[in-house]
Amino acid sequence: MFMISRSNLADLNGKLESRGARLVAVSKTQPPAAILPLYEAGLRLFGENRVQELLEKQSALPQDVEWHLIGHLQRNKVRSIAPFVAMIHSVDSERLLEEVHRQADKIGRTIPVLLQVHIAQEESKFGWSAAELELWLASGQWKQYPNAQIHGLMGMATFTDNRDQVRMEFRSLRQLFERLNADVFAQADAFCECSMGMSGDWEIAVEEGATLVRIGSLLFGERA
Ligand SMILES: *Cc1c(COP(=O)(O)O)cnc(C)c1O
Repeated sequence: MFMISRSNLADLNGKLESRGARLVAVSKTQPPAAILPLYEAGLRLFGENRVQELLEKQSALPQDVEWHLIGHLQRNKVRSIAPFVAMIHSVDSERLLEEVHRQADKIGRTIPVLLQVHIAQEESKFGWSAAELELWLASGQWKQYPNAQIHGLMGMATFTDNRDQVRMEFRSLRQLFERLNADVFAQADAFCECSMGMSGDWEIAVEEGATLVRIGSLLFGERA
C-alpha cells in the first residue's frame, strides 16, 4: 500500500501552514486501516464524498477526527451526518442550505458550510455560477438559515494540463470570495475559507489563496 512518508507529509504540511492553508485528507475509498496511520501522524481533518462511507468511518475511527463532507449531498441524507460533521463543502442550492439549517437547529447545533461554486469549464450539475451566487447572496435570503453557518466557498478547477487555465479559475474563486467578504459577509467573521486545490493542482491553489486544500491520492496513492 502506498502511503506518503512522514517526512514528505511534514514537508507538505509545512508548505501549507506557511501559506495559511490547512490540509483536508481525502480518504474516500480508503479503509480505516489506511486512514489510521495518517491520524497517528497528526492529521485530524479528513474528507469523504459519500454519506454511507462517511458514517462507517466515523464510527470506526477516533472521535476527534473532523469529518468534512466534500461530495454532492442529497437533502434526505443531511440528518444522518448532522450530529458530527465538521464542515460541508458542497452546499450547492438554497434547498440544501435550508435542510442543513433545519437538521442542525433540531439538534441544537450550528454546522459550518461552504457554498460550492462552478468555476470549471466542464459541464457540471453542481455548484452555483459566480453571478448567480452573488445575486442570491445579495438578496439576504441566506440569513434565514443561521444554523447552516456560511464559512466560505469551494470550487474545483477544470481537469486539464493547462496550468494557466487552472490558475485563472482558482483566481476567479478567490476574487469572488474577496468581493463577498468585503460586502455581503463584511460583518461575518466566520466567512474565511476558500476550499480549492487537489493532488494535481494544490500548489497553484495555495498560491491563489486557498485556505483548505482537499488532497487524496498524493497521500494515499491512486484510488482503485
Ligand atoms: C476526490 C476528491 C478530491 C481529492 O482528489 P485527489 O486528486 O485524489 O487529491 C478533492 N475534492 C473532491 C471534491 C473530491 O471528490
